[in-house]
Amino acid sequence: MFKRTGARLRRDEKTQQKRPDPVLKSPREIQIMREAGRIVARVHAALREAIRPGVSTLDLDRLAVDVMARYNATSCFLGYRGFPANICASINSELVHGIPSRDRVLKEGDIISIDVGVRYRGFIGDSAWTYAVGSISAEAQRLMQVTEASLYEAIAQAKAGNRVIDVSRAVQRYVEGHGMSVVREYTGHGVGRQMHEAPQVLNYVSDDSDGRLLLRPGLVVAIEPMVQAGTWQTRTLKDNWTVVSKDGSMAAHFEHTVAITNSGPEILTLP
Ligand code: MG
Ligand code: MG
Repeated sequence: MFKRTGARLRRDEKTQQKRPDPVLKSPREIQIMREAGRIVARVHAALREAIRPGVSTLDLDRLAVDVMARYNATSCFLGYRGFPANICASINSELVHGIPSRDRVLKEGDIISIDVGVRYRGFIGDSAWTYAVGSISAEAQRLMQVTEASLYEAIAQAKAGNRVIDVSRAVQRYVEGHGMSVVREYTGHGVGRQMHEAPQVLNYVSDDSDGRLLLRPGLVVAIEPMVQAGTWQTRTLKDNWTVVSKDGSMAAHFEHTVAITNSGPEILTLP
């Protein structure tokens, strides 16, 4: 979840200011990030078990923080720019940044996107998943399948010698080829000691981005297709956090933290 900062991009173009360089990680640092990623995967495994009709998104937040604590990790979302919870929980037409609440109770047929970010020994792991609540419509099922598959299409391009834009193109091609839309206003990102590092990893092809950056061993990125069944536009609710599809169509979000290595992409947030 990274708000694309249009103002910053324009300023960059005007002043020709250099963007921040990506921070390459040493093998020792990647080993810590692997452990952080594994904790994120454990949180997701616990959430997957708990998700059912009748459970509130606050229940899920508490479960997540319990699992993090068990492994000496903390949420890197809590307090980030004032975000008031440990996970993001976004239901149906909500895309990202939904705030867990005891009043948001899951119903049969919902889909829920949960974004989990942890800090462990100074490093971040970041992964999002969309889950079905009970049995869901064929349309929702297809949205989830296309979004998840686009993530793996993108990860396959995350190899040394390719450029960031190859990852972006893979998402866009796959999603639009299936008649759905990739959101423009939120992007993937480099990740390490900070949740959001260079480069921005767009989910579509654009000239005014970090797309030309070469992928090199030691670079770690969060690749995160955010997909809507209708149009790509979004709006933010009055809580100033929850992002929803503008047309009310359903939204899905899948994300992994991926290290570029000499032997190809390594997904750090797998169980
Ligand atoms: Mg992310
Ligand atoms: Mg995330």
